[in-house]
Amino acid sequence: MNSTNRIELIKGDITRMKVDAIVNAANNSLLGGGGVDGAIHRAAGPELLQATSKLHGCATGDAKITPGFKLPAKFVIHTVGPVWRGGNHHEKELLASAYRRSLEVALENGVKTIAFPNISTGVYGFPKKLAAEIAVKEVKDFLNQNPEIEKVYFVSFGDENYTIYRDLLSKTENT
Ligand code: ADP
Repeated sequence: MNSTNRIELIKGDITRMKVDAIVNAANNSLLGGGGVDGAIHRAAGPELLQATSKLHGCATGDAKITPGFKLPAKFVIHTVGPVWRGGNHHEKELLASAYRRSLEVALENGVKTIAFPNISTGVYGFPKKLAAEIAVKEVKDFLNQNPEIEKVYFVSFGDENYTIYRDLLSKTENT
């Protein structure tokens, strides 16, 4: 099955998504932070921090799973994207890995519907267009190999990312 109709773009708050799993753009400690990480911890409640504190952190480019607690989503997949340091520190590969590992962990846990935020494009400073190109490519490649995943939502919080994804997804509709 082709990946096109299994990808959907949403504008808004990822903590509201009723999906099997939402992905958190966490930091290496997995102990919470600002941005989407802070929003997810607030919406899930304090049990989430209790769960993540038992995971002993997460390497950049890797992903770990917890329950969603008070969230509408059943699971949270915590991944760590790279901090942008100019582009010559494996940032592109590490961002691709964050998307891929999140999807692998999803698959291992029977997740069929999953929502991603725009990983690394907030405080971590990854150029938004480049980040979107990497995200769309990794997700499409994974969907083409793994029919078990029914739907991937890209959830953009801001207008700039939303427009970038909208243009990119319409351009690549037939690939
Ligand atoms: P990072 O450290 O990976 O850059 P941030 O949380 O700073 O993580 O930003 C990642 C992206 O998440 C940004 O594009 C930001 O606008 C977006 N974001 C922030 N809050 C939310 C939210 N509640 N739902 C979805 N996306 C969000």
